[in-house]
Amino acid sequence: MSHQIGGVTQTAQPSTTISHWLDNDFFPGTSTTTAPVTNPATGEVTADLALASAHDAKAVIDAAAAAFPSWRDTSLAKRTQVLFRFRELLNERKEELAAIITGEHGKVLSDALGEVTRGQEVVEFACGIPHLLKGGFTENASTNVDVYSIRQPLGPVAVISPFNFPAMVPMWFFPIAIATGNTVVLKPSEKDPSASLWLAELWKEAGLPAGVFNVLQGDKTAVDELLTNPKIAAVSFVGSTPIAQYVYTTGTAAGKRVQALGGAKNHAVILPDADLDLAADAMVNAGFGSAGERCMAISAVVAVGPIADALVAKIAERAHGIKTGDGTQDSDMGPLVTQAHRDNVASYVDAGEADGAKVVLDGRGVAPHGGQGGFWLGPTLLDDVTPEMSVYTDEIFGPVLSVLRVETYDQAVDLINSNPYGNGTAIFTNDGGAARRFQNEVTVGMVGINVPIPVPMAYYSFGGWKSSLFGDTHAHGMDGVHFFTRQKTITQRWLDPSHGGINLGFPQNG
Ligand code: NAD
Repeated sequence: MSHQIGGVTQTAQPSTTISHWLDNDFFPGTSTTTAPVTNPATGEVTADLALASAHDAKAVIDAAAAAFPSWRDTSLAKRTQVLFRFRELLNERKEELAAIITGEHGKVLSDALGEVTRGQEVVEFACGIPHLLKGGFTENASTNVDVYSIRQPLGPVAVISPFNFPAMVPMWFFPIAIATGNTVVLKPSEKDPSASLWLAELWKEAGLPAGVFNVLQGDKTAVDELLTNPKIAAVSFVGSTPIAQYVYTTGTAAGKRVQALGGAKNHAVILPDADLDLAADAMVNAGFGSAGERCMAISAVVAVGPIADALVAKIAERAHGIKTGDGTQDSDMGPLVTQAHRDNVASYVDAGEADGAKVVLDGRGVAPHGGQGGFWLGPTLLDDVTPEMSVYTDEIFGPVLSVLRVETYDQAVDLINSNPYGNGTAIFTNDGGAARRFQNEVTVGMVGINVPIPVPMAYYSFGGWKSSLFGDTHAHGMDGVHFFTRQKTITQRWLDPSHGGINLGFPQNG
């Protein structure tokens, strides 16, 4: 895709245009607006992405709406067969999807494979939908009167996802949405759109009828149509907090059910009695895995009491050995997703240093392993960070670990609870009482105890508190089943043939 002229890399016109998907086929749309898709490890433009016009978005939404009545009425037995087939195909071919993710996101292949596996777990959860959809039944609630409840699908639903998990985050939602009888329009991130189309083709191969799973590529224009089009019944969004808030406000104002998961600033508290080797391993894995571009990344290490020096030394020693480079090669950590994002993250390190933080490990000048034109920033460790520094107050979303030193457990909890975000947190200690108190007191949605990234299993639900989630329901688990269905309660009476007569009085229990 690129070649050298006079020492300057010339990027050739990409031959691929990534488009939408409707009715089980590629859909080019009518918009001529495109955005470049880049390989972050090389800086090469690998494809042009079609950005939907409102007209294109309507066409995709119409396809989802047209498919809804018959998918809603498709039996659970038939829906489950498609889900099982999708799971088997995904399991057989997940390396293909991992390679697509690495090529557009940049994360190393093993990490991309891990992402697919975590998404697959939600597909497996959704395979149990007949059991999950069972309602309640009360016989003879009143004489000859039975009461029961059922859950029904909503209609066409939208899933709007971020760049950092192009497969897993959509899979938090669409397997359950489809299993419960809804049809789906997925709007992936513009930065890594190809995973969505691979998944669409897999659904087709698994036997999903046309129009049940659709893909809309685009930016704000596409999102705004999804948020306001009356045919869309519900929106599941994951992304940064300002956009999550916008999506929640706009979608609910248009009468839709909305769950909007936002950004994060995740703290790990290390108490003096913790196993420091375990804690240092965890900080490195959770701080630098996926180059810190995870909503569950640890970015603030809160060292309590006298262990701070020893902890910082252990983290630095481990982080020093991380090989930053092309994710398709033998690297531990890949590039950041774009040059602009890389420069923004580096500017936070500059600001932290200027504000008085100590740069223990500096990734700004990292020499990458392969992929010279990529968007590189190596693992960076800052010590003596204080709560007013921008490197602490803002979500950075890069491989930057900030160490804050406090004297007491209470100071550590105050720090976390006064932070506007509440996605995930962790505590490292050997004191069960302290851990139990932490789990009770901390105002965060997901808590790890001697576990760095507490991403819940598919049969539990994923979601933060405060500015990390707008809406009432979390992703997947029973919250997912409830989000994508509406409850109906039925009271029935079948009269005994010998009984009859008119009674205009107010119904009484008898
Ligand atoms: P983003 O908010 O920029 O984009 C998310 C989605 O919103 C994309 O599909 C994008 O096209 C769309 N979008 C962007 N700007 C928009 C606008 N002005 N109007 C309408 N739609 C718009 O997020 P990102 O950079 O792709 O992803 C990183 C962010 O996602 C981080 O803040 C991270 O913490 C967050 N995230 C949160 C979770 C969670 O579970 N809470 C999980 C993953 C990522």
